[in-house]
Amino acid sequence: METSFIIAKFGGTSVADYPAMVNSANIVIANPNVKVVVLSASAGITNLLVALAEGRDINIRSKHIAKIQSIQYSILENLPENPALRAEIDQIIANIASLSEAASLATSPALTDELVSYGEIMSSKLFVEILKEKQKNAIWFDVRKVMRTDDKFGKAVPKIDEIKQLCCAHLKSLNPETIVVTQGFIGSESTGKTTTLGRGGSDYTAALLGEALNATQIDIWTDVAGIYTTDPRITSGAKRIDEISFAEAAEMATFGAKVLHPATLVPAVRSNIPVFVGSSKAPQEGGTIVYNTHSIKSALPSFRALALRRKQTLLTLTSLNMLHAQGFLANVFTILAKHNISVDLVTTSEVSIALTIDTTGTNTNGNSLLTKALFDELSTVCHVEVEEDLALIAIIGNNLTTTKGIAKEVFGALDDFIIRLCCYGASTHNLCLLARSNDAEEVIKVLHKTIFE
Ligand code: ADP
Ligand code: ASP
Ligand code: MG
Repeated sequence: METSFIIAKFGGTSVADYPAMVNSANIVIANPNVKVVVLSASAGITNLLVALAEGRDINIRSKHIAKIQSIQYSILENLPENPALRAEIDQIIANIASLSEAASLATSPALTDELVSYGEIMSSKLFVEILKEKQKNAIWFDVRKVMRTDDKFGKAVPKIDEIKQLCCAHLKSLNPETIVVTQGFIGSESTGKTTTLGRGGSDYTAALLGEALNATQIDIWTDVAGIYTTDPRITSGAKRIDEISFAEAAEMATFGAKVLHPATLVPAVRSNIPVFVGSSKAPQEGGTIVYNTHSIKSALPSFRALALRRKQTLLTLTSLNMLHAQGFLANVFTILAKHNISVDLVTTSEVSIALTIDTTGTNTNGNSLLTKALFDELSTVCHVEVEEDLALIAIIGNNLTTTKGIAKEVFGALDDFIIRLCCYGASTHNLCLLARSNDAEEVIKVLHKTIFE
């Protein structure tokens, strides 16, 4: 292994069009330690492909395909004449058209993954040519040769050991002067069918490859110059965090800070690989470095960041049998597990339990999780009430459960809002609130002002 070996991942806006791709290519070229480049689809393409995979009529299909073609052609047309590349892109667009037609007759999770994979395939084919145009030795690599997953199409689980072996076989012996350009988000199951890691999964790909190839750093290039105290789209008061621990950043990602896919830090923590987050439009602005607590020079603050997750549903389950009885919670959670429901926040009282479920549907085939079958089964053990249009606001920090005055500071700022539920104490790193969806941004703004400004 070389002394310094960086995997660089560029998100959708960083490969959205020709100027964005050129900025990203310049970042790759500027750092000779960048050996592997992981790309998302050009911004907007995955959404269009997901819509096509849901099965559309011919008019909508034609419009979506024309839009995809125009996004990719606008990049192609800025490159020197390249008939072979144009033929490849045209062939991919033709495949997209025939798979979309198939989806309009019968959709399936496997078909969806095959269809959406073309977004990353096209952006990576175009990006290689931009590097070559800049006299760089670059090759296109099909990540599905190494990104082995199970067959849960739409949210496939990577097989870490196999990925390591396959990376050794396919990528370790490459010429060190060659830049490998590959795809985020997509993988393949054991029989070779294309899978995807869930929306926003390219960050995760970069971390998995970084781990498998013993990278010394994983760079995530996006449209913001780092990780901020909250989503800078919510408040202009958001401040960049220059360095942050794995634990804090993982909490942020889990609770909705879209800047990192929630699974990204798992391989990074496991293999202790620092992750850098910066803006491909403004690399000179620097960014955030995420690493282990010992590397952090400044003291860890009580309050670090605020994160927001929308589309939360609250279930309140009531049963008089819960009184002095054993096994009620076990029954409820067994039913939830059977229906693949993952629970986020939980509070209990004498005869009831309230829990939140994220209904965003982070897999590519986002069918509703809350089925009639689930409610029928829950109704056999308790009375169920459902509240929708809620948002989860997470206050992320350190030593929250052993510091005085935390609750006063937080709740003192929230006089004007209805806080439907609160979870405090399970982790020293977070305090979570459930507010009405319409209030959520205002809650964040007010809390941000109180805590950080
Ligand atoms: P990419 O396509 O590059 O993966 P994403 O849209 O997935 O980019 O992630 C970047 C976005 O994450 C930013 O534009 C920003 O709106 C959002 N975001 C949410 N929370 C944060 C945060 N705490 N810090 C920075 N960005 C955040
Ligand atoms: N292109 C995929 C998506 O939009 C994966 C990613 O960008 O990370 O979800
Ligand atoms: Mg992303």
